[in-house]
Amino acid sequence: MNIVLLGAPGAGKGTQAAKLVSEYDIAHISTGDILRAAVKNMTPLGKEAKTYMDKGDLVPDYVVIGLVKERLQEKDTEKGFILDGFPRTTAQAVALTSELADLGRNIDAAIAVVVDPEVIVERLTSRRLCHACGHIGTAAITECPVCGGQMYQRDDDKPETVRNRLDVYEKSTAPLLDYYKGADLLVEVDGDRPVDTVFADIRAALAKN
Ligand code: AMP
Repeated sequence: MNIVLLGAPGAGKGTQAAKLVSEYDIAHISTGDILRAAVKNMTPLGKEAKTYMDKGDLVPDYVVIGLVKERLQEKDTEKGFILDGFPRTTAQAVALTSELADLGRNIDAAIAVVVDPEVIVERLTSRRLCHACGHIGTAAITECPVCGGQMYQRDDDKPETVRNRLDVYEKSTAPLLDYYKGADLLVEVDGDRPVDTVFADIRAALAKN
């Protein structure tokens, strides 16, 4: 099963990706996670990416496309993968289609998790993550309920950056819904419901594939 997960930042892609990974035992490819790890380790890639990420802008296509192409060569992706946060531009979507064709693979479904922008602003500015295990929670908790780690706020979840990320999504990424609709791969799911309800819809849609 090869899945593309689309949706604005904060729509719940990361949460649904984690559930899909455990349900289908497929590889999780989150370009945001890869880039954040590079920033943390201060690699040349991380240094380049940080200037864009801090503002909520997109990292240039050639950088992200290169990263994903490399990641798709890894063995664990052969049993299937979920792309979370990629593609985010038409150029990335076209590059992905062509790379997968070269590898003799294809996308089974592009799932768009749809949430109203005002709900997203509220969700993102109150989102907190666990330093130790990555658990996603809210500002109401300071200690991770899963592992006891310290919760923190992502720099790009500050209100002014969130607004820019949503603008960037509308301009660059929302048009991809039409790209995947045209390829008859798009499944739209209402993401403004409890996590398990959203997941049940996604699972049902994938079962039809
Ligand atoms: P995310 O965790 O998916 O919200 O990504 C965090 C940040 O990483 C984004 O705001 C971008 O700056 C960068 N990023 C992640 N994925 C991509 C992508 N596919 N194309 C360009 N930039 C990306």
